[in-house]
Amino acid sequence: MLSCKDVSETVTDHLEGSTSFQDRVALRFHLLICKHCRRFYQQFQIAGGVSGSLGDEVSEPTDDEIDALVRKLKARN
Ligand SMILES: [Zn+2]
Repeated sequence: MLSCKDVSETVTDHLEGSTSFQDRVALRFHLLICKHCRRFYQQFQIAGGVSGSLGDEVSEPTDDEIDALVRKLKARN
């Protein structure tokens, strides 16, 4: 499980798309459970001006996405 510190340290990597699928799942999962990091991440997106090409990847997850992520995470444990 990522900590808030991990999120803040890797946020630029995520926005650049240079992280692995597993890293992205871990980040998304943390964003689901941590409002603070979600806001931080969204502000980072806006500040970085990447809302165009990478916007889809970092938008707030839908219920379906949450279910899918939780299922994937459970399957890995
Ligand atoms: Zn957090």
